[in-house]
Amino acid sequence: FQDSDIAKWLEGAAYSLIWHPDERLERMADEAIEDIVAAQQPDGYLDTYYIINGPERRWTNLMDHHELYCAGHMLEAALAYEQATGKRRLLDAMIKYVDLIDATFGTRPGKKRGYPGHPVLEMALMRLYARTGEPRHLALAKYFVDQRGQTPLYFQEERLREKNPYMWEDSPFGDQYYQAGKPLREQTEAEGHAVRAMYLYCGMTDVARETGDKALVETCRVLWRNVVRRRMYVTGAVGSSAYGESFTFDYDLPNDTAYAETCAAIGLVFWARRMLTLEPRGEYADVMERALYNGVISGMQQDGKRFFYVNPLEVLPEACARDHGRRHVKPERQKWFACACCPPNLIRTLTSLERYVYSADDTAWYVHLYVAGGAAAAFGGVKASLKVETGYPWREEVSIRVKPEAPVRFRLALRMPQWCAQPELRLNGEACPAEHRDGYAYIDREWRPGDTVALRLPMPVRVLRANPRVREDAGRVCVARGPMVYCLEEADNGGDLHLVRLNGNRDFTARFEPDTLGGVVTLASGGIREDPEGWDEGRLYAPCGEPATKPVRLRWIPYYAWANRAVGEMLVWVRA
Ligand code: ZN
Repeated sequence: FQDSDIAKWLEGAAYSLIWHPDERLERMADEAIEDIVAAQQPDGYLDTYYIINGPERRWTNLMDHHELYCAGHMLEAALAYEQATGKRRLLDAMIKYVDLIDATFGTRPGKKRGYPGHPVLEMALMRLYARTGEPRHLALAKYFVDQRGQTPLYFQEERLREKNPYMWEDSPFGDQYYQAGKPLREQTEAEGHAVRAMYLYCGMTDVARETGDKALVETCRVLWRNVVRRRMYVTGAVGSSAYGESFTFDYDLPNDTAYAETCAAIGLVFWARRMLTLEPRGEYADVMERALYNGVISGMQQDGKRFFYVNPLEVLPEACARDHGRRHVKPERQKWFACACCPPNLIRTLTSLERYVYSADDTAWYVHLYVAGGAAAAFGGVKASLKVETGYPWREEVSIRVKPEAPVRFRLALRMPQWCAQPELRLNGEACPAEHRDGYAYIDREWRPGDTVALRLPMPVRVLRANPRVREDAGRVCVARGPMVYCLEEADNGGDLHLVRLNGNRDFTARFEPDTLGGVVTLASGGIREDPEGWDEGRLYAPCGEPATKPVRLRWIPYYAWANRAVGEMLVWVRA
């Protein structure tokens, strides 16, 4: 799968070049593209593993090998690079490869009825279709979505024919590891490998939107509800188990053995963004924000040089070192990984943030996330721009200045975050008439240069509980402010964080600290700490009595910023 690492790097480099022209970076990318294109076979095939290890064996292990996955990532890179530089060298090569894939796979006689063991090509093809308008590109994506899990199971036949090992034979998920045990339209729960699932759902949502297939749209909604109501961490992370990097079962969200791969949270962001294209509902953007501001960026150290693959919500460094069941959890970010999927995935996501912040259709301009900066769009041929000033997510105020070239009517749709009980909206200093629907406030008017919308999103500290069915969080609470989830770290609060309780007063103070962790709002509150001093160390168990306690001050930092100071304990869900 390692062709995909450079593909994601190229894609990220392309987005970076859009905003930050850089001759040296562009030259590096051009040279990489020349190397890649030089490896392409005469018929268009382009996967280095099989080119090097046996071209005659290509397409014989779609289940576990990654030809179609790498093709998807390289296609996304090619599209991004053309968008950034206008250079078509890689895109032309990838279109030739797509032609070969199209000639190889399908339901017609003589074609292989296979599909990617690791999805991503589906959504890449949909992006290619958006660029080319070529119906074959849409049809190929739709084929991969429709054919997946059809009887007879392609992967099962392939295993028997090619004598491929079946890693998941005795697992709880079998072919559902690949979300390929049954047709997609019959799937009602997120199962198997979490990143595969997220990428597949992205492609499925793209196909559902483009084809208007109502059954497929409903499948998207059913799976969405299963994920976000039963299988998602409060940080927006998904994938509860290290075994198979997988989903497990409803409400199974262990904090200290979580897998919560950075790529899976990124995949959830991708999917949420696509669900918004099906229907503009704030709940999708809420999840996008939850994941982006917590479980995604936790994957990168503040200097951008070290990364987490696994993003737990509770860490005891000794357990990471000495318990096999928690060895996948690292107490500090790593320089690199043998499977280096997450670092370049972060690069391409963070360098293309604008895709998640705004969208526009013929009559409405959506602001999904509140990020300082600007955007441009046109309505009825009249160009307009937005200028956003805000200190979000630390500050509550967002100022949006609208600047059309000439007065023009459109609906400005501002997401009203679900976490915010009482958003305040003003237009040019006056009360602002707006239609509130599905998590967005629609301001419908003829906009004039200088019109300014002032949004205030009050951010009192919130103490959250989990659904009582989440066993791991029973009797525990989590602290949040605005979109940010907070945690306790040993660096601020000492070790043995399991002995700490939040007291009932909830006397939080929030303070912006410019010199802490790159500038964050920290929280302080009262707490109670059990005192183990009086315990008879000669006994592991003793009759129940009231434990000795002492009051303490607790200091909370945003979850994403943990493990940037010293190796130590970390805890999100604290005893109430
Ligand atoms: Zn990853």
